[in-house]
Amino acid sequence: MIPYGRQDISAEDLDAVRQVLTSDFLTQGPAVPEFEARVAKSCGAVHGVAANSATSALHIACMALGLGPGDRLWTVPNTFVASANVGIYCGAEVDFVDIEPDTYLMSPAALEEKLRWAERDGTLPKVLIPVHFAGQSCDMAAIGALAARFGIRVIEDASHAIGARYRDAPVGDCAYSDICVFSFHPVKIITTAEGGLATTNDAALARAMELHRSHGVTRDRSLMESKSEGGWYYEQVALGYNYRMTEIQAALGISQMTRLDAFVARRNALARRYDEKLSSLSLVRPAQREDVLSSFHLYPIRVTDRARIFDALRAAGIGVNVHYIPVHTHPFYRARGFDWGDFPAAEAYYREAISIPIYAGLDDADQDLVVAALSDALG
Ligand SMILES: *Cc1c(COP(=O)(O)O)cnc(C)c1O
Repeated sequence: MIPYGRQDISAEDLDAVRQVLTSDFLTQGPAVPEFEARVAKSCGAVHGVAANSATSALHIACMALGLGPGDRLWTVPNTFVASANVGIYCGAEVDFVDIEPDTYLMSPAALEEKLRWAERDGTLPKVLIPVHFAGQSCDMAAIGALAARFGIRVIEDASHAIGARYRDAPVGDCAYSDICVFSFHPVKIITTAEGGLATTNDAALARAMELHRSHGVTRDRSLMESKSEGGWYYEQVALGYNYRMTEIQAALGISQMTRLDAFVARRNALARRYDEKLSSLSLVRPAQREDVLSSFHLYPIRVTDRARIFDALRAAGIGVNVHYIPVHTHPFYRARGFDWGDFPAAEAYYREAISIPIYAGLDDADQDLVVAALSDALG
């Protein structure tokens, strides 16, 4: 089976993990801050805060922005459920903004219209989470301008998009957002097995995320209410979680970061090959904005007879997948008042979508097998 995505682990990655396992620290040592600095630097942000998953990083990002009961979080339906669930974790209400029909990214036009209505009703969101679907940046200049106009905070869900660029700058520089979150799950661009990281240029937000990542406990005098009673002293000043990344994960991440550009280049080369080889087939290839370099986490195609094509590809040993079942159609969200029909662009895309294999270790010969299987299936 050729999977739709998989990790690429080198001999250097194995050495890095082996070394950290015999070092003094398996957690709370020097590797996590080094990884944080490394990722922040590579995307031009001031601060990096690592966590044990992107879901955790999104959660502490929402907490740092003060999201709570009575507040609203908006994201897109075309995402993994975690982008929405973090709002529920905070006790906020979750709502969605539909996607553009060609890029499958948050539509700035739909966002503007929904914000106007919400302003009139007094139901503006506190936090907006645009998602850089498939590795392609949303139109962050437009989204950032709307957020500024309506007084909304922005967290970019860049789980798919480390190494991507928007208008000649790296995704993660937070030029149009408060916080940007990456995922290091094995199918993503680089991996730490499980792991995530939030970048920000705001020192107070970075400190708040660090606090919430580790029980709400601090040894920082400036955050304490009482004066220190001695070298052992710490205070819990908020209710946080244990969302820490281990040294083992960070060591793998540091090693993987050395190949980030190569991974993104290979994924782009594969995408260009698909663009060429699929151009004569009756399917829709993913549209690319002109002002982005995608990291091509996914290569989503659209076909009219989706279920049949999906089954034929699986039967041919091609591990295709579908990204995403619109979040608002899951039973959990339907029980909260949403239903089919609410977000037509996300639903129309979903009904035809198939993600075909793309990952750094996919070779040309295997990619040609995918193309041949697809060609057969389409008849
Ligand atoms: C993978 C993913 C997440 C969650 O990442 P984890 O690291 O698995 O918690 C969140 N949002 C999107 C869009 C994702 O693809």
